[in-house]
Amino acid sequence: MRSFSYARAESLDKAVGEIAANRAADPATATVKVIAGGTNLLDLMKADVMRPTRLVDITHLALRTIEDLPDGGLRLGSLATNADTAWDERVVSRYPALHKAILAGASAQLRNMATNGGNMLQRTRCYYFYDTGTPCNKREPGAGCGALIGVNRIHAILGASEHCIATHPSDMAVALAALDATVQVTGPKGERSIPFVDFHRLPGDTPHIESNLVADEIITAIDLPPNRFAAHSTYLKARDRASYAFALVSAAVALDIEDGQIREARLALGGVAHKPWRDKGAEAALAGKPADKNSFRALADAVLQDAKGYEHNRFKIDLARSVIVRAMEEAAGLEPS
Ligand SMILES: Cc1cc2nc3c(=O)[nH]c(=O)nc-3n(C[C@H](O)[C@H](O)[C@H](O)COP(=O)(O)OP(=O)(O)OC[C@H]3O[C@@H](n4cnc5c(N)ncnc54)[C@H](O)[C@@H]3O)c2cc1C
Ligand code: SF4
Repeated sequence: MRSFSYARAESLDKAVGEIAANRAADPATATVKVIAGGTNLLDLMKADVMRPTRLVDITHLALRTIEDLPDGGLRLGSLATNADTAWDERVVSRYPALHKAILAGASAQLRNMATNGGNMLQRTRCYYFYDTGTPCNKREPGAGCGALIGVNRIHAILGASEHCIATHPSDMAVALAALDATVQVTGPKGERSIPFVDFHRLPGDTPHIESNLVADEIITAIDLPPNRFAAHSTYLKARDRASYAFALVSAAVALDIEDGQIREARLALGGVAHKPWRDKGAEAALAGKPADKNSFRALADAVLQDAKGYEHNRFKIDLARSVIVRAMEEAAGLEPS
């Protein structure tokens, strides 16, 4: 591991100031990163994939609480652990898809350490990104993409570009996308909110820029709006092993059903794109339709109509179709087909 300096911030203002000062002092080479649970960042530093020159430890900031919002929603502190969030009784009862999504990720030990903010900003599990001996536009802009002509079994089928076909690995983020969460951030220019669906980016020709968070901003919280989905929502993850493994394809589903008819449908997919994948047009087409298998198959066809497979991951298109229909059936309370 390369040498780096370390500072522990005791307040949000000090953390923001520390990042800004460090970047201003040496704009050309300073790569200051915040560290939360460290379960992704430290691995990447050990593998020489990420090379921060300074770490700002934010674990002492008062961002661990989970609080009710006046509109009936819930605010998840960015430093609340994945475990505390998954098992919060309000998450279990009001946002069951999020509860299931978090528990489908990693292991109990990791979830005890991993934080909500860090989970959203964890980096892709593309093998070539981790292997510094191979070309990767995400690690080194302009280097090329090893996965395009290499082993691309775990890679994207939607929204990819010729510069990068990596997927976002988070399970939690898929549920947050389906629930229309909002990300609260603070930086030198003050506070702002980012709709979750706009938080992560598609690769385009800048795959190294993965989110719309500015480099000197800190995520403080994630807000969940109130909804009528609790009775009809789920998270389904298809993966190579039943024990902890990243998703090949996953689906977070939230339905508002009245008298067997769909009032509102939400579907976010994981493991298929550079960000949690939503198709709001396809979701809207489900309104007023019966909550049955035919409607769910039509949704799957619409969402996957532009899907493109590469040499080793074409199977994901059929797998995604099955996962969507199965998750929809489960959320609607139908027997799986
Ligand atoms: C063996 C293994 C298996 C795993 N399996 C899964 C899985 O199946 N599903 C899944 O979803 N995840 C999985 N994970 C990933 C794990 O969930 C993430 O590593 C974890 O959530 C990251 O959180 P952290 O707090 O440790 O982040 P850190 O490692 O501390 O940080 C990650 C990134 O986020 C940035 N960051 C952290 N907090 C903030 C903040 N508040 N504001 C701005 N930037 C911030 C850091 O600078 C860094 O770039 C696995 C990890 C391992 C090691
Ligand atoms: S898919 Fe993206 S992350 Fe993987 S090698 Fe290509 S550029 Fe790098």
